[in-house]
Amino acid sequence: MPGGLTLAPPTRICPACGGSNEHEAVFCANPECHKALGDFKYVLEELRANVRWHERLADSVTAFIGRPQFLGIHAFWFAVWIVVNSGVVAVMSFDRYPFSLLGIVLTMETIFITGFVLISQNRESRHASKQAELDYEVNVLTYRKIHEIDARLDDIFNRLDRLEAKWQKPQ
Ligand SMILES: [Zn+2]
Repeated sequence: MPGGLTLAPPTRICPACGGSNEHEAVFCANPECHKALGDFKYVLEELRANVRWHERLADSVTAFIGRPQFLGIHAFWFAVWIVVNSGVVAVMSFDRYPFSLLGIVLTMETIFITGFVLISQNRESRHASKQAELDYEVNVLTYRKIHEIDARLDDIFNRLDRLEAKWQKPQ
């Protein structure tokens, strides 16, 4: 509109930190906040808010197990254990061949690791089903909205057709 008011683009106020963001922003621009600014729930945020201490611990442990350092530490540990207990170096051995104490320690470690991995996997699968549920919800809402718009468009076209017919009749 020439000569009219030039409106500043609307901003989106973050409900968590109160910072102002661009209207199109999806996440808060404040790096410490980074809140999702959508009109509906953000699954990851909700899941992070509900995470319990043992799940957080399980996630960190599982993330560490997936790193090459985990294998490196074990290789080093086994080498030292075997060298110390096979009498190669002059130190007191405490677990002679066939290293039964090492076997017990490793069995216990396996039990704990299995538990942590299962907790982490359960959380992942809960996360996936929650995500799917929200996707479905958004799809249904979008579908309904499109139908509503479609019906309104049909109505507008019908009215236009009637108007056109009215205007064309006298000529
Ligand atoms: Zn914020």
